[in-house]
Amino acid sequence: MDHIIYADNAATTPVDARVVEAMTPYFSQCYGNPSSIFYSVGAAAGEALAAARASVAKSLGCEPAEVFFTSCGTEADNWAIKGTAHRLAAKGKKHLITSCIEHHAVLHSMRALEKDGFSVTYLPVDSQGFVRPADVEAAIRPDTALVSIMFANNEIGTVEPVQEIAAVCRRRGVWFHTDAVQAAGALPIHFKDMGFDMLSLSAHKFNGPKGVGALLVRRGVLPDIFMDGGGQERGRRAGTENVAGIVGLAKALELAVASLPQKAEKLAALRDAVQRHVQTMPHVHINGPADPARRLPGLLNVSFEGAESESILLFLDMAGICASSGSACASGSLDPSHVLLSIGLSHAVANCSLRLSFGVQNTPEDAQAICRALTDSVAEVRRRSAIYSE
Ligand SMILES: *Cc1c(COP(=O)(O)O)cnc(C)c1O
Repeated sequence: MDHIIYADNAATTPVDARVVEAMTPYFSQCYGNPSSIFYSVGAAAGEALAAARASVAKSLGCEPAEVFFTSCGTEADNWAIKGTAHRLAAKGKKHLITSCIEHHAVLHSMRALEKDGFSVTYLPVDSQGFVRPADVEAAIRPDTALVSIMFANNEIGTVEPVQEIAAVCRRRGVWFHTDAVQAAGALPIHFKDMGFDMLSLSAHKFNGPKGVGALLVRRGVLPDIFMDGGGQERGRRAGTENVAGIVGLAKALELAVASLPQKAEKLAALRDAVQRHVQTMPHVHINGPADPARRLPGLLNVSFEGAESESILLFLDMAGICASSGSACASGSLDPSHVLLSIGLSHAVANCSLRLSFGVQNTPEDAQAICRALTDSVAEVRRRSAIYSE
């Protein structure tokens, strides 16, 4: 493949070479089953697992016993939501609260519960994508089991007031889960101090491997067992552990957290360079929060009126640039993004929206090349479009 500029880091990220190096011994050298403690290759794998758990706990401000490894962020979200619903249904609590801009891992888990007789409140957001903590408080009922609000949105970058929402939930005695898949490794997180009950993360969003994630669960909070089988993950999520993947997750998180302020500054500079450029183009608007402090540093979502995103993406691809029309999970469908519709965009404008998400591998030259390609691509698409006129 020729040189490509990868600007879709909210979909996934390349694995850091230091992470690959940390993982490598756990494939064919130290390949033991961590539960096989009576010989050294097994014990060594068990020790690597314990060290990874301790490292994740240190990176995120929780106890090692509060870390449960999963196969991905989607699994962590499913477990937190369905596991809580089924656990608390026995106490007559069959109501859940979420927002209408969550990732499908959360939204579709909620829909599945509705089919099983649970009731769900989907809170609206304002034009910048913010959930209001007062709306959360007003939606809590005596039978509410769980509130699940994402830490940061994967399409428009809104950083939700999750600490305030966690405080409301704690006061009202309702468990609070946050999908922090976009936030982990990108924003400072302290699980205990921020008052969360459960938090989901996924390694491949912070330069770790795909197929491994984690759910942090506060001591005393007990969603139902996710997978029955052996005694792995304290008997709550059975299945032989993905040792190499877990070692990779811990290493990637450690690296991301250690370089967090520099990383955020670098990504924000790339984002701002492209944002300043697109703001000089006609009929453009930026989606997401105006306040940079309440926005993911590396993410830019922009609508180019009269230029359909699918067509822009084809031109960008010809220029070797990878971007997205929204979330990877929703692309391929012709439905406009539920997030963009929720912040008040029309179908027509939502279909003309592009997401650029920067990563540690991107350079200022990449940002310049993206600016040039956007000018050309958008002009070309608009020229061919019957509906656009200057
Ligand atoms: C990517 C993503 C997920 C899903 O994580 P996977 O590990 O890909 O299953 C969930 N929530 C958000 C906000 C995401 O960005």
